Amino acid sequence: MFVMSSPSGAGKTTLSRRLLADDPQITLSVSATTRPPRAGEVDGRDYFFVSQTRFQAMVHGHELLEYATVFDNRYGTPRAPVEAALAAGRDVLFDIDWQGTQQLQQTDAASDLVRIFILPPNLAELERRLIARNTDHAEVIAARMARACDEIRHWGEYDYVLLNEDVETCLAELKAILLAERLRRRRQLGLADFVRAMLGEAV
Ligand code: 5GP
Repeated sequence: MFVMSSPSGAGKTTLSRRLLADDPQITLSVSATTRPPRAGEVDGRDYFFVSQTRFQAMVHGHELLEYATVFDNRYGTPRAPVEAALAAGRDVLFDIDWQGTQQLQQTDAASDLVRIFILPPNLAELERRLIARNTDHAEVIAARMARACDEIRHWGEYDYVLLNEDVETCLAELKAILLAERLRRRRQLGLADFVRAMLGEAV
């Protein structure tokens, strides 16, 4: 369970798209949200866009692994697709905020988590990226900047912190983390049997 958090505008969406395109082993967890779609966003690919009522029903039905309110909108991770992907031996990428990361950390799955925080090079660059995206009004951008600072204050709760000055460098760093974490002994399923067989011991 590969969690990436960052303030919006730090380049996380680009990084996660690139990682998903380059690595067939990893699947994106598509969140449910009550926020309206932005231009270009596709239901079921970027998010499952749901009503407040449907979201509340998902909460009550324990259909979400974690959920949080961000900018007055609700976001949550549907449980079933994540469990199915993990059971099939796939890795799952989560694009969730610090609140969701804390909730996943409190579940039985905590030992499966790899938490990565992406920092923008500086706040001016973050604001420039938010404005360049041009999908939000000025007051929304101001609110996102304030929220970005709140998000950044949680950097210390992550296993890895990457500075996204250059996408290619940051992507290479992400891939290195993913590779190293996959090679951890406890994540290499079947390794004990493999070594026993190598040594000619009973499996
Ligand atoms: P945006 O509206 O810009 O797509 O996302 C706003 C924030 O919500 C981002 O920080 C994103 O990581 C976070 N987010 C998206 N999906 C989820 C989710 O399922 N759970 C939580 N806790 N945060 C989410």
